[in-house]
This record gives sequence, structure tokens and C-alpha cells, in this order.
Amino acid sequence: HAARYREMTPKSRKFHERAADVTPLGVESNIRSFDPYPFYTESANGSYITDVDGNEYLDFLLALGPIILGHNHPKVTNAVQEMAEASDITATPTPVAIEFMEKVAEMTPCIERVRMSNSGTEATMHALRVARSYTGKSKIAKPEGGYAGAHDYALQSVHGSKEALGPAEEPNTVPHGTGIPEQVSETVVPIPFNDKGNTEKILRKHADDMAAVIIEPVMFSCGCLKPRDGYHEFLRDLTEELGIVLIWDEVMTGFRLGPASAQGRFDVIPDMATFAKAAGGGYQVAGFGGEAEIMNEIIPPGEDEEGESWNSSAFHGGTYNGHPLAAAAGLATLEVLDGGDVYDHIDRLGNRLFTGLQEAADDTGVDANVQHIGSMGQVYMTDAKIHRFRDTWQANEEQFADWWIEAAANEVIFGNPIQDERFFTTYTHTEEQIDHAIEVAEDAFRAVDHE
Ligand code: PMP
Repeated sequence: HAARYREMTPKSRKFHERAADVTPLGVESNIRSFDPYPFYTESANGSYITDVDGNEYLDFLLALGPIILGHNHPKVTNAVQEMAEASDITATPTPVAIEFMEKVAEMTPCIERVRMSNSGTEATMHALRVARSYTGKSKIAKPEGGYAGAHDYALQSVHGSKEALGPAEEPNTVPHGTGIPEQVSETVVPIPFNDKGNTEKILRKHADDMAAVIIEPVMFSCGCLKPRDGYHEFLRDLTEELGIVLIWDEVMTGFRLGPASAQGRFDVIPDMATFAKAAGGGYQVAGFGGEAEIMNEIIPPGEDEEGESWNSSAFHGGTYNGHPLAAAAGLATLEVLDGGDVYDHIDRLGNRLFTGLQEAADDTGVDANVQHIGSMGQVYMTDAKIHRFRDTWQANEEQFADWWIEAAANEVIFGNPIQDERFFTTYTHTEEQIDHAIEVAEDAFRAVDHE
């Protein structure tokens, strides 16, 4: 399946050989690596990425989420250019970052106070520290199969075999790769997403030590696992009862599933939330926020707003926090998103794309289960139901990679060639582009071995 892709990407192959001599795997981030090698990008505009060989890919990867307005949306690009003329970083506060944070707080139901960071990883790391400081407890719970950033505190039970992860009722904590101290793994308790009974048993058992539950509202880190049977309403009530901070990791869903993010879409309000990706329209914007009482843990010891003495001091800092270019990009992005027709457009095209992909798979006799919500979704190569993380194990990863590369060889990229990922629609996509993508997908389904 990769033969045609190889033929059309000779310069990328050369770059890959060169890259492997300077950076492990020849990529800047592990998940950019795939077989036979990734294409190397020259430029990106609107719905398309152009590679160094001049191929133009219709893009549904969309940078793993940030590109909600299409590549190089003029308002975002202009805001960045103007800011670059005005100032680089100064490590002094700027009006543009304050305006951005005001906009985030105005749009996000749970956020009264907010801080900026440069990546989703930093956002979740700092949010967890604040929650630990606020509760005075040390453990955190996260769904098995979930990804909440690349730091040790959350890089646990992300994937794993049945043997390693143990019983579905009470999954084991499994560090994601080596180099993670055992002592850190001991602070993380996996819970089974969409399994209310066992989630409740586990949280009640650890409640006295449990500072926070950090959870994606829709688990896009294992494809597209949607909440069922009031799972989030249940978790909201239970965490409140047990004195556990509920953190929604909205790095993927924030400003993507709607102007008020997933919390607006589902009408469940967590105590804290993270955001990144879509909030920056393609620039390094991320952050976390929540109730003022919780976020004020960040204020160093002294007096609080009422003049009461104050002993906590959950540290949050960073040289690049609130970088003016990022803040300018973020503000311009949120201004386009808020009140415009972006969500109508991307959700409508999302429905068209993902239902079209299911039909294409069905027509070609490939077992596929296409799951989506709004502009985000994934094709699982299985006809099994996908309700819980372990259901995703039934999907055929090799078949997915074959299907992906076949489509890539026809200049359409459906996210990454990894079954655990997901892909998106964006504001610059047109109905014609979606229909073309479905045709390419159908041919690709036909080409994969599914006997
Ligand atoms: N949380 C979730 C839900 C994510 O999907 C990701 C990234 N895919 C992260 C956290 C980490 O964000 P970043 O890659 O910006 O560090």
C-alpha cells in the first residue's frame, strides 16, 4: 500500500534519512513517525498541506486539532504579524494576554480565573498541582486509555495490553514507557470510562487520598469514545460528594465542540478545565482555569481577597506563558469563533464526512464503526460496538494504517495512520472537498485487505 506513496515523496524520503541523523526517529514528536516515513511539509494554506515534493494533501489531521479556521486564516495571521512588529516577548504582562484570558473566561462556563501555558501538557500538569494544593490530597484518577499530556503525573495507562492493564473492573496503573518513577505511578488510579459502577467503587475506595479526576469529556485519545448513560453527570455528582476536584481536560475539545467547549455542549460544569489546540488557531496557546477559590491556590502566601491570611502556594510560572504572538493568535481565533457560523459549518461538514465514511465502508464490505461528534471523529476498523476503552482493542490497526496510506497516496490525510487517533473538519472545508474525500476513502476501503 505504501508503494505509490513512496513514489510520490522522494524528497521527503531524503529529508527523513537526513532527519534520522539529527533527531530520534527523524521527527520532532514521537507520533509524527510512521511507516514508511512521514512527508515533510513545505507550506499549509486553507484546507491543504503542500509537501516538499509538491503534493497537495486535503488535510483532516489539522495539526492534531488546532486548525479550526483552516490554515493561515487571515485574521489570525494578521494578528500575529502585527504583534510581531510591535513586540517579541518581554516577560512583562501584556494587554493582549489579558484580553485573551478575559475572552476565555467569558466563553467557558467553569472558568472564573485562568492562567496561560504553552502546551496541553503544561496545562494539565499545573491544573493537577493546583487541585492537589486545594484538596491537600495526593492521588489522581484518570480513565485508562486516556492521554492527558506527556508529564509523568498523567502518562499512565495510556495504552497497554490486557495482561498489563489487568481486570477491567479495577485496572492496573501502567506507566506509558520507561523513565517514569514508580513512586509517581503509585499516585495515579485508572478508572474505566463509561462504567459507572466500577468507577464509583474505585473512587470511593481512594476518596480520602484522591485530589482530582482528570478526564476528557469525549475520549479522543483512543479514537472517539463518547460518554454514555449520563456518565459525566454521575461523575459530577460523585466527585462533589467525595471532595474530589473534577478537571475536564478540554485540550482536544475546548473551543472545538462549541463556543462553550464540551462543558457547554453537554451542560455539565467541572471544577476546572484545561484548553489548548483550537484556542490558538495554530499557535502555542494553552491554559487552565476554574473556580476562583481553587485557582487562587496559585497566589503565594499572604492575604487573600478578603484580607484573610493565606498559606497555600501552588507554583505556576513559565518564561513563555502568555507569549504575545500566541495571545494575539488566540484572541483573533476566539473572536472569529464566538458568535460566528464556524461551529454550524464544521459540525455540518463533520456529519457529512463521518456518515459518508460509514456508508463508504458499508458499501465496500469493510467492517468499520465510524464514531463522531460534531467536527471530530474516527473510523474504527471493526464492526464491534465501541462503548468502552477496551472495545477499541477489537479494531484492526494494520487495516487502518493501510487504509490511511492508500488515502494519503491520493492526497487526502485522515488524521494520522494510528487507530487510536481521530480527525477533524475545519472552517475552510467545502462540501466538494468532503465529497472528494469520501470518494478517496471509498477507493481506499476497497484497496485494503478485508477478506
Ligand atoms: N490532553 C489531551 C486530551 C490531549 O489530546 C493532548 C494532546 N493531544 C494533551 C493533553 C497534551 O497536549 P500537548 O500536546 O499540547 O502537550
